[in-house]
Amino acid sequence: MTMPARRLPRALPPFHDETVDSYVTRLAPANALTASELVAYLGVRPRKKTPRTDFLTPLSVVTGLPADTLRLALPEFMTDHVSDEPGHIGRPLALDKPRTLKRPACRRCVRAAGIDEAVTCWTTHDRNVCRRHRLWIGGGCNQPEDQIDISMLPSTVSADRHHRNLITRHGRRWVSDAFPDARDIFLGLIRDQYADPFGLVAAALEQLRGQDNRPVEVETALMVLFHPQIVTLTGLLACPTWEQRAMQSGDIDWLIREITMRDVLIGYVPHDKTDPLIDWVTKRFATHKFVARHGWHLYKILFPEETVQPLPAPGARVHRRTSPIRFGYVY
Ligand SMILES: [Zn+2]
Repeated sequence: MTMPARRLPRALPPFHDETVDSYVTRLAPANALTASELVAYLGVRPRKKTPRTDFLTPLSVVTGLPADTLRLALPEFMTDHVSDEPGHIGRPLALDKPRTLKRPACRRCVRAAGIDEAVTCWTTHDRNVCRRHRLWIGGGCNQPEDQIDISMLPSTVSADRHHRNLITRHGRRWVSDAFPDARDIFLGLIRDQYADPFGLVAAALEQLRGQDNRPVEVETALMVLFHPQIVTLTGLLACPTWEQRAMQSGDIDWLIREITMRDVLIGYVPHDKTDPLIDWVTKRFATHKFVARHGWHLYKILFPEETVQPLPAPGARVHRRTSPIRFGYVY
């Protein structure tokens, strides 16, 4: 790797949690270059397996920004998954994993920062709403233009607050695992069972629009409209209570009752084994049995963290829960 000799005429400030690709894609045209010309100037080999950290020093040279500033802004330069460095704890892990998320940053926050181009950021599962701008920036938003104005849906905005509270109560690891499953289960159930007698979905499709009145996909409209129910179901699935009760009683009647009691889906009764909740419960207990047989360390792989964790203080109490399969084992 050869280092670039000179600074570029224009150095753009990076956006918080921006991906390296997004930053390079913005920096290149600002200096009358294509992205591949800029990468060549940086002296980095444009290969798929090239470590992102190879970009750190050359980008610092060509922008004149201190390497520490770039490390703090761009998560791909934060290589430690556990850290006590100020500003690193709680930031999204930039990993090439199926559930790791990259999404466009809120287009109004980007504009407020004086940036005209689209910005793609590393994000976490709970960043679905920009509360400052009342914009849906979560599932279904592949372009900034897909982001939906939700100022007419206060329950979706307050569900975002509920979601953050769940993370505080149950731990981010468990909530981040439950959320995508709760969303798939809920949408699967309403597709099969929900007749929509009040025309809510049709009304949502009419009202919920992207930038410049762009229509949204049905799946995205459902995610936005039913975000409160999906978050409540997430809380039920992330809480270990249902597992403990199922182990004691031998059934999941408590979990099924709570789905009605908590207004997730009133009158919900699973009909057979193909029901998405039953399928999920079966797989969850199969996971616990698999781990019990092959080693408890597998929990760390199957339920990974999605953010940089603080270094545990000596003697500090760590948030753990008990495996429902072998009483007393903590993980
Ligand atoms: Zn915003």
